[in-house]
Amino acid sequence: ATISLAEELRADFPGMVTRDGAPWHYLDTAATAQKPREVIDAMSRALGEDYATVHRGVYSRSAEMTRAYEDARRTIATFLGGREEEIVFTRGATEAINLVANSWGRANLKPGDRILLSQLEHHSNIVPWQMIAAETGAEIDVCPLTDDHRIDLAAAEEILTEQHRLVALCHVSNVLGSVLDAPLAADLAHKVGAKLLLDGCQSAPHMAVDVGRLGCDFYVFSAHKLYGPTGIGALWTKGDILGAMPPWEGGGSMIDRVTFEKTTYAPAPQRFEAGTPAIAEAIAFAAAADYVAAVGIERLHRHEAGLVARLRRELGAMNDVTLFGPADSAGIVSFAIDDIHPHDLGTILDEANVAIRAGHHCAQPLMDYLEVPATARASFGLYSNDDDVDALLEGIARTRRIFGKA
Ligand code: PMP
Repeated sequence: ATISLAEELRADFPGMVTRDGAPWHYLDTAATAQKPREVIDAMSRALGEDYATVHRGVYSRSAEMTRAYEDARRTIATFLGGREEEIVFTRGATEAINLVANSWGRANLKPGDRILLSQLEHHSNIVPWQMIAAETGAEIDVCPLTDDHRIDLAAAEEILTEQHRLVALCHVSNVLGSVLDAPLAADLAHKVGAKLLLDGCQSAPHMAVDVGRLGCDFYVFSAHKLYGPTGIGALWTKGDILGAMPPWEGGGSMIDRVTFEKTTYAPAPQRFEAGTPAIAEAIAFAAAADYVAAVGIERLHRHEAGLVARLRRELGAMNDVTLFGPADSAGIVSFAIDDIHPHDLGTILDEANVAIRAGHHCAQPLMDYLEVPATARASFGLYSNDDDVDALLEGIARTRRIFGKA
């Protein structure tokens, strides 16, 4: 008999049970993923017997920690198909986008320049650009969506002009699961001389990512959605773009020489990592990438695609359910049930140990476009299984009964 990925791996995740030891039907992995024992142990060792600062100590423990921290950078680079000197550790995707906006954006945007975003962006790929646009005089255009809720690249081609300096798009929508044709987006951006930033928060955990093949110039993601810790993420920047970017945050570790007359800066990526970094988190981040690589991202992708297909089929057969997003969504199913607010559904499901997300998912312009205040969202990880889908469907039936709809 074949053992499903979830059956094989669920025991690695101590968070996947309730406090009473019952199965917890955790369907909010798009918000943040549960952590495998390997990651928790790596974090614990790094904070325990291996702990010391990096980049400064002359004593051996610090030198070993520095090696482990730089090994983590190499692991993340390999995971993305990039080179270690192209990786900056950040607090997460949000900080990575703010870094690009404040460093590359402030140095390269001027009045009359334009930035292309899309209707489905997460607030973290909208607000930093609004802030830097207000400061530099650049302007923002919004790419619409297709009928099946993908970023409409034919429309993007129409919109793009020589004035566009940057195209910043979500690789996989955190609300809809729709996957961007990144190589095509890169071609369109590069044709007008613009750079492409991909928000990879929801692609890195769900599909094989190779930044070279994607063709992007910047790729950002957060460790905590890839089964790693919070407080760390990464910015990958192509080739020598990073080397030409001015520093953003100033402080220790990012300098070459400081005097009151003049300060010179360390080369990239150190120039972008001011202060004592998240050492244990970086090491646990690498442990998470290793864990996912060992499981096999293609296998993980197929497993999640099977769960998405089943849940969409079951929900699609219900005549009071609206499904959002395309059929080939990457691990995410957003829906609405007539006359039941997603928050009520989420609360009733919680009583049955089913955890879904209900809300605007930090994508209010997308909610406006879909003309809903909120959606219910079930999102899968490598530990998700058919029992989780059964529990969700039973919970939906129970919610209907409570609302007198059945
Ligand atoms: N972009 C997308 C698509 C996301 O799903 C998220 C997290 N919800 C973010 C950006 C922001 O990530 P973080 O909060 O980890 O910085």
